[in-house]
Amino acid sequence: MKSNYDVVILGAGHNGLVAASYLARAGLSVLLLEKNDYIGGATTSQKVFPDYEARLSRYSYLVSLFPEKIIRDLGLNLELRRRATASFTPYAKNGRHDGLLLSNVSKEQSRQSIINLTGSDTEYEQMKRFYNLSRVFAEHVWDTMLEPLVAREEFQRRFDVDDVSREAWRSLAEEPLGRAIERYLQNDLVRGLVLTDAKVGIFTHPHDPSLLQNRCFLYHLIGNKTGEWKVPVGGMGSVARELEEAARKAGAEFVTNVDLRAIDVNGKKKTVEFEVRQNASGTRALLSQTVEARFLFVNFGRNVLAKFVGKPYQPDATDEGSVFKINMLLRRLPNLKAKKYPAAEAFCGTFHSDEGYEQMNASYEQASRGRLPDKTPCEVYCHTLTDNSILAPELRQKGFHTMTLFGLDTPWSLFAKNNETTRKQAETKFIESMNQWLAEPLEDCFAVAQNGGLCIESKSPVDIEEALGMYHGNIFQDALTFPFAERKEQVGRWGVETDYENVFLCGSSARRGGAVSGIPGHNAAMKVLEVFGHR
Ligand SMILES: Cc1cc2nc3c(=O)[nH]c(=O)nc-3n(C[C@H](O)[C@H](O)[C@H](O)COP(=O)(O)OP(=O)(O)OC[C@H]3O[C@@H](n4cnc5c(N)ncnc54)[C@H](O)[C@@H]3O)c2cc1C
Repeated sequence: MKSNYDVVILGAGHNGLVAASYLARAGLSVLLLEKNDYIGGATTSQKVFPDYEARLSRYSYLVSLFPEKIIRDLGLNLELRRRATASFTPYAKNGRHDGLLLSNVSKEQSRQSIINLTGSDTEYEQMKRFYNLSRVFAEHVWDTMLEPLVAREEFQRRFDVDDVSREAWRSLAEEPLGRAIERYLQNDLVRGLVLTDAKVGIFTHPHDPSLLQNRCFLYHLIGNKTGEWKVPVGGMGSVARELEEAARKAGAEFVTNVDLRAIDVNGKKKTVEFEVRQNASGTRALLSQTVEARFLFVNFGRNVLAKFVGKPYQPDATDEGSVFKINMLLRRLPNLKAKKYPAAEAFCGTFHSDEGYEQMNASYEQASRGRLPDKTPCEVYCHTLTDNSILAPELRQKGFHTMTLFGLDTPWSLFAKNNETTRKQAETKFIESMNQWLAEPLEDCFAVAQNGGLCIESKSPVDIEEALGMYHGNIFQDALTFPFAERKEQVGRWGVETDYENVFLCGSSARRGGAVSGIPGHNAAMKVLEVFGHR
């Protein structure tokens, strides 16, 4: 390791890796300093259950927002695979179990399924009209994500071309999303299905005046102009691995197990003091180092940066995370009460449970009052139905599957006082939520570890903050932003600037950060490459 670099990147999440690749390929010297013993941050695959050769996407798991351009520029070998089923929402009607199945491959199947639920195809047609708004929004927005920020007013002008575009702007950027949902859709289950994309990872409701729900919804619908969420073949860790390889090939250097000690962001040269923990035993301070850099890139959130620059982080109420992640390994898939759907079809997409519109208004209310909701809304995924390469051949042969549950309306504040107890209670509730749709308890399908324990791991927002530094477990580091400049001084900038000269955010905390996208990593790199005349 040298003592002087062009750029030091603090944190080695996937955005840090994207930034490192662009910079190193342009000939700059780059060092990444990561606190964990692995690279990739929230994009990591791990052998969560040591007795089984199964590499689970421990945190993030689906990709939609990663631009084709970054894949091409960096020569990444990524396969993002379509799921046959988009979503499955089980329900009981007149004492009979059924399900709303939206297919990625058959429009007719989706239409019939909505007719079965509602009695006509009106809701199907309305849903198409509603989603057309986000498609139109994506058309206007997507190509700007890798460019300097455009003023809000200019953006609005771009939408002022026809009735549908104007309606898209109004519904998605101006009024709380709940209004459009209620204007277009009448069925509670369909409304709920749409709303979930506005709530993933954050604590909000349809009529939230902050429009946090709108921002979250947009991030879920504009990716590569289609908004389709795909399974990264090889698990999310394969995305991090490809990016790490690209960065190393270009010459970037890495240090893991880093304890940052001090950062000086004020001088012309930025200095970073750190210690490196001993890898195997975890005991402290093998090595104490100081490096200098002309540019400092911050891959972790503003909250972590604040700690090191001695300026208290001033969070907004919308920064709080709301997530409950359960990773599971199953010996076999459970059968459903809705007999006409094979488990492989229902679990191949996003399986929604307790996510009716009114039900989520109730769960939001209950969580706001400081308790776990009676019914905990969640979505469940079985990625091995789309890509089983994350399982050892022997597990595949035996019919093993991984399962992931992402819970909503579980804000950080519920876990802050007593994480252990509340995590256990939440886990039980989420499994109960699933069990109401299953012909057999999910617990009966779990793989069993050698010590007799079930192969299930739960992560609360408190756990996520501890593991990755994400502010109060916010999976996007902090509140998502609209994809345009909202203040005059942001116009024409990259959305990565901080209060300190030559210190840039290259992760989710940047404007247009959030999710597995590489976008802020790219944008921070462009900011610096402009200085060198490479752009
Ligand atoms: C449970 C969960 C599920 C998600 N699901 C999805 C999904 O399916 N699809 C999707 O698009 N997005 C998803 N997200 C969001 C997405 O994963 C993140 O927004 C994105 O990966 C963040 O990437 P990043 O590179 O900006 O930051 P991070 O991944 O947060 O990387 C920051 C890095 O900084 C390191 N760091 C923190 N503190 C320090 C310190 N003091 N010193 C040194 N290093 C430090 C961290 O360890 C980490 O490696 C999910 C997130 C979570 C948590």
